[in-house]
Amino acid sequence: MLEPLNTLREIFQVAADLDEPGQLLELIVSRVRLALKAEVCSIYLLDAVEDCFVLKATEGLDKSAINQVRLPRGEGLVGYIAEHQALLNVERASKHPNFVFFPQTGEQAFESFLGTPIVHFRKLIGVLTIQKHAAEKFTLEQEAFAITIAAQLAGPLDQSLDNGDLHLRDERVPDVNIRFRGVKGASGLAMGKALWLKRKHTLAGIVDTRLADVSSDRDADRDAEVERFRVALAAAKEDLKEQKERMRGNLPKDVLALYGMYRMILEDRSLADEIETYIKAGWTAATALRKTVKNHARAFETMEDDYLKAKAEDILHIGQRVYAQLRGEEDDIAGVAGPTILVGSDLSISDIAEFPTEQLAGIVCTKGSALSHLAILANALGVPAVLGVGELDPNRIDKAETILDGYRAIVIFKPVEQLQREYRKLLTQESALLKGLDALRDLPAETPDGTAVTLMANTGLLADITPGLSRGAQGIGLYRSEIPFMMHESFPSEGEQVEIYRPVLEAYHPKPVCMRTLDIGGDKNLPYFVFTEDNPFLGWRGIRFTLDNSSIFLSQIRAMLRANIGLDNLSLLLPMISRLDEVLEFRQLLTEAVLQLESEGYEVSLPKLGIMIEVPSAMLILDQLAEHIDFISIGSNDFTQYLLAVDRNNVKVSQLYSWFQPSVLRGLKSVVSQAKALGLPTSLCGEMAADPAAVILLMGMGIDQLSMSAYTLPKTKWVIRSIPQSVAVSVWNEVQMMKTESAIRQRLTEVLEQHGLGGLIRAGAH
Ligand code: PEP
Ligand code: MG
Repeated sequence: MLEPLNTLREIFQVAADLDEPGQLLELIVSRVRLALKAEVCSIYLLDAVEDCFVLKATEGLDKSAINQVRLPRGEGLVGYIAEHQALLNVERASKHPNFVFFPQTGEQAFESFLGTPIVHFRKLIGVLTIQKHAAEKFTLEQEAFAITIAAQLAGPLDQSLDNGDLHLRDERVPDVNIRFRGVKGASGLAMGKALWLKRKHTLAGIVDTRLADVSSDRDADRDAEVERFRVALAAAKEDLKEQKERMRGNLPKDVLALYGMYRMILEDRSLADEIETYIKAGWTAATALRKTVKNHARAFETMEDDYLKAKAEDILHIGQRVYAQLRGEEDDIAGVAGPTILVGSDLSISDIAEFPTEQLAGIVCTKGSALSHLAILANALGVPAVLGVGELDPNRIDKAETILDGYRAIVIFKPVEQLQREYRKLLTQESALLKGLDALRDLPAETPDGTAVTLMANTGLLADITPGLSRGAQGIGLYRSEIPFMMHESFPSEGEQVEIYRPVLEAYHPKPVCMRTLDIGGDKNLPYFVFTEDNPFLGWRGIRFTLDNSSIFLSQIRAMLRANIGLDNLSLLLPMISRLDEVLEFRQLLTEAVLQLESEGYEVSLPKLGIMIEVPSAMLILDQLAEHIDFISIGSNDFTQYLLAVDRNNVKVSQLYSWFQPSVLRGLKSVVSQAKALGLPTSLCGEMAADPAAVILLMGMGIDQLSMSAYTLPKTKWVIRSIPQSVAVSVWNEVQMMKTESAIRQRLTEVLEQHGLGGLIRAGAH
């Protein structure tokens, strides 16, 4: 009797002792072959990039065929199994219409064939095949055995694939096409050399690894060491100044302000004095620096206040800079040449700010999420980014040629030449497309049959203002006010906020600017107000946070009203509304802010008030909310996330996150129809507005305003100018009846192709 669980147990037992994770596949095929008393057992894994199945391990076929035999989906018996996602048991493999013969495998000798798909969480990751000489069908028991093995191994296999383990240190498998999936930070394609940013964030990092080699000798020439330290300090200051100057043209004032924080630390006399005191006591300059940095960083690290705690990192960072000067070492990012994909484990906006922008082709971060400020900055700079890819081995990927596909949230290190060629072609197509789109800037966003759609920009950084205007944005549809808060060292005062908001309103005046009140929580945290929750997306987020912190909220409302004086192009937008009382409470605060300001002599006007439709409950009480608001804006990112209960930042379920799910589309249509009936102007301001295929449906549903990142605006305009409203309506009517996401996507792809927008798909924008 066959005992699949015993075989599995044995596989897991032996696998635990394997030195080389790459031997896992070998182990599986040999054990399965043995248990089934078959002649051959092989595993083919899906190469998702090339969409084909690659022979990865075999016991019984010629091993030289490993990695050589590649079957596109639908081709060969393996491709057939993949396409049908069902077991195949045939007596004579060679008679099957899909049979493809690969001479290098030597498989002509084997007649019977049993294959089963390896599927994890509905994702096909490969195919397990078993072959025998004799022309006889495998028994039902053997079928059940193969199915059980494939099902049980799918999870561990998927995981090791995601970790890249199967390639790791596997002698036979060339170290190429190391592929990671993450979440989308910013769309676009990039190719370049990976640069692993070595950051010594923690005290242990800088003290133990970076400065550990510093000898503790006390025989140093004291005067010479003081001099060395002073020279290094001056050089570090100069270096910082140069970097800031270099960045000035590329970075917004708010990001540049970070340099001020570093400069203040470098100029702090008490730190320099302490270092010199150590040197005068006989320590070398490097040891004195280490001791001082350690003392101060530790002092900050132990503080209760999160903001002060975060200061420890700034001090370490600065200590590192001075140390590099002392050692005459190159900075981690010095010497960067050519297009570079910056890769790191905890990249911050200041890392990006410090990086030579001309060379920054893409960003990959092991952590981070689609809505994090790193993603927002990447979008603002138009740099493709993939975040949250999980652990990476710097030794394996540093300096490797890399492809970054921000549309599909994948990154491929050491791609094979063929893949590089494909992506190079796509990059060329994409840049040609973008150049062509420039010409659309001054043309109206109007369908060929005369329906106008208002296109607005999403922003939160000053860096976005010019790109938005130059790409023809008709206003700001979403100003994410949490971004300037995230860039600041502490809660900005009311006066500081006026200084931040006013230039935005002025730059667009008289075009409308819709400012959203602080939307922190979820994955958007303020460095100086850190709180942890088990379930942050369902927690203290958006309006819930601000209503509970009314003085912070009041100062923001007052600042926005003050910034709007004499301009009158402001409207206010509330995030994460899920209940009526939130709107009513906000109304009270707004009235209070107006009364206060009037009594202080300011002549403020009352802006229009809108709410974000992100939480499904808001959709269900829209009629009740409508009496108290002037407009709505659908936040499709959160709307999709909350409606489907799928965390869009969780790679495990990211394939379930889609606005092409019939439920999401129905939800959206319901909001749009209700809003029309209630006379509420409606906009949509999530990523969906930048998805060409989705835009067709939004047009068909009757949305007349879309807001998106400035860089994606021309693509959306192109779709609007190419597809008649009548076509969009009839496509929507068809799609409404469809039951699957794949059917919907397929139909939309056809429509894009038919209207000459295939480039948007080929260049990866779909
Ligand atoms: C959204 O949820 O779609 C949205 C625009 O808000 P944010 O992405 O800032 O959460
Ligand atoms: Mg949102």
